[in-house]
Amino acid sequence: MPSHLYIHVPFCDGKCHYCGFFSVVAAPSVIELYSTLPAREYDCHLARLPELGKAPLRTLYMGGGTPAMLGNDGLKRLADALAKRLSFDTLEEWTVEITPASASAALFATLSAIGVNRVSIGVQSFDDTILKRIGRRHDAQAAVAAIKRAQDAGFANTGIDLIAGLPDVTPALWSETLDRAISLSLTHLSVYALTVESGTPLAQQVEDGLELPGDDDQLAALDQAEAAFGEAGFARYEISNYALPGFECRHNLAVWRGYDYLGLGPAAASRVGRMRWTNSKDLEEYIGNVKNDTPPPGESTAFDAAEDAEERVIFALRLSEGIDLAAEARRFPALAGRVDAWEQRLADLAVPGITERVGDRWRLTARGREVCDAVLRELV
Ligand code: SF4
Repeated sequence: MPSHLYIHVPFCDGKCHYCGFFSVVAAPSVIELYSTLPAREYDCHLARLPELGKAPLRTLYMGGGTPAMLGNDGLKRLADALAKRLSFDTLEEWTVEITPASASAALFATLSAIGVNRVSIGVQSFDDTILKRIGRRHDAQAAVAAIKRAQDAGFANTGIDLIAGLPDVTPALWSETLDRAISLSLTHLSVYALTVESGTPLAQQVEDGLELPGDDDQLAALDQAEAAFGEAGFARYEISNYALPGFECRHNLAVWRGYDYLGLGPAAASRVGRMRWTNSKDLEEYIGNVKNDTPPPGESTAFDAAEDAEERVIFALRLSEGIDLAAEARRFPALAGRVDAWEQRLADLAVPGITERVGDRWRLTARGREVCDAVLRELV
């Protein structure tokens, strides 16, 4: 049963051109109404899965969207509503995603007061021209000010997100962004390769002729980040994530290591027991259902024991720690029939340098990380 809780806050003050996450610009009355609904959705799940309440809560991650759009009162209402249902005594990590434009001193005071101990700030680039071109509603100075405000408010565990492979970002410009990131006393750095999500303004721009960097340029930008961050003491513990020792995101680690998690809010995904479900991206329906104590609509998949185990185990190949197949077979007896075939396939992939065995664990090499999705698809 999940010890890891995700809450999606589906509001933003506009739409970044590349963004494929579910978020809308909504009226203040809708945002206010929303603030207690994730807790009520929790009640809906608890009614059909009473075991949910038995697992100690270890990580809480509030993302979006822009959680700060709830306002300080809304954040407190949400935290109070959760605290009535769940004990925070066992909580090790509570992350909130922040946008630079919303990062006021009052926000950080509220986050600190409700128990948040980790913030992740969406910076994406430290170049104003690039930020404007991708539809961000802040400049580089606001991003730096947001980071400093978080640190001044006592958030020793502050991370940022960057995007690699944005159009017109030369290696020299990218290097400036990486150096700026390194200079800011952060504990965690995420670098996502730009992807074109269908239905976004970026997808339209590409259709209209915008040229994006090719695969080689994108890989070079990711390599540049790995070299710069490595030199600064950050370990690449997952394909897109770097941390100083001890500052890896515990919530995301739990998800990649195949543990149960519960997601609340429209578009939120959950993995509980042999089930996976994803709430639909429809805010109106979400509000209508949850206000009437009915679970939100969505899609669900039931797995048999072997499928369940395969999915939980194999995605840990994204992590630099890799996987210990013998230990996983003990954790999931249903894997018994798969482990030998995986062992063989991972050994085959070691020949062209895609995987490597380190002690009892298999992991992807630098070359393997470049083709990670294809490897995972083949193994599942
Ligand atoms: S702030 Fe984040 S969630 Fe909102 S539109 Fe931009 S990328 Fe998407």
